[in-house]
Amino acid sequence: MELGSDVRRVRIAFLPTPVVEMRRLSEELGGPRILVKRDDQTGLATGGNKARKLEFLIADALDQGADTVLTVGGPQSNHARQTAAAAAMYGLRSVLVLSGSDPGEWNGNLLLDDLLGAKVRWAGDTPLDEALTAAAKEEEKAGHRVYVIPLGGSTPVGATGYVVAMAELKSQLDELELQVDAGVLPTGSGGTQAGMLVGAKALGFPGQIVGISVFADRSTMVPILKELAPSTAEFLGLDVAFDDGDFVLYDDYLGQGYGVLGAPEREAIRRVARSEAILLDPVYTGRAMAGLLDLIGKGVFHAGQTVLFWHTGGTSALFEYAEGLT
Ligand SMILES: *Cc1c(COP(=O)(O)O)cnc(C)c1O
Repeated sequence: MELGSDVRRVRIAFLPTPVVEMRRLSEELGGPRILVKRDDQTGLATGGNKARKLEFLIADALDQGADTVLTVGGPQSNHARQTAAAAAMYGLRSVLVLSGSDPGEWNGNLLLDDLLGAKVRWAGDTPLDEALTAAAKEEEKAGHRVYVIPLGGSTPVGATGYVVAMAELKSQLDELELQVDAGVLPTGSGGTQAGMLVGAKALGFPGQIVGISVFADRSTMVPILKELAPSTAEFLGLDVAFDDGDFVLYDDYLGQGYGVLGAPEREAIRRVARSEAILLDPVYTGRAMAGLLDLIGKGVFHAGQTVLFWHTGGTSALFEYAEGLT
């Protein structure tokens, strides 16, 4: 049976997303061969990886009779923007609890949140999880049926999107008669990597799944992955087992912290734009590509190999970072 085919799902993303080769970049580097999986092209109000998770999360919300989806993130959250978009597609209200306070000028993802009809609530000094709980209570008091999506949609339901995505990738690679030695992706809240790990195990995918953390160090993120991967497998009734070696995550590229654009991200974004006409984003894929380039420089990945870079989206945040990018 097809992976995840018995889980309720709505159609949101344009699938399959293309797999293309970064020919010029690979050449400039003298190898490895670099492929890219274009999940920036999932189509959901400028695309990104959350579209895959939301196919399962929105289905679950509808199943539970919700009229409102509620989630959290930073002011430039791609997850919040895609949640607002997916909610609009299915006639649900979206309420976004964003960290900090109103910046006054609404640009990038925040502009899109507004266009998509989201109700934005600023958390101010309140920790995000507390602000989320408070918002849920208020919305319920006002008579709404609320479906809460935690940070990044990284629940077993959301991560299912990436279990299924691995099956999609495998059939594309089979058709192209290609094998990859590694799949490299940015890791934030962990659901994408956890889902891929489950899919890889279930399918016997030969390549290693390599996360580049953009958000927190290994001591925070590895336990999250170690919890979420088996719980996602259990949710899907998959009999797979993990060992420590499965959880590959680099935390060397956190720079000045989450969402802070530094020279490595800027250079990676500019380089890939000029060599491939592919736009990376300032928070996730710019950082992950900077990590990949560094790992290639160090010989962790080498000329004889094929590496797949998973472009998870986020380009609508570029404009908000214009000053730091030029
Ligand atoms: C959310 C996000 C990620 C990280 O996905 P997680 O499942 O939270 O680890 C990566 N790239 C982009 C562009 C994102 O918006």
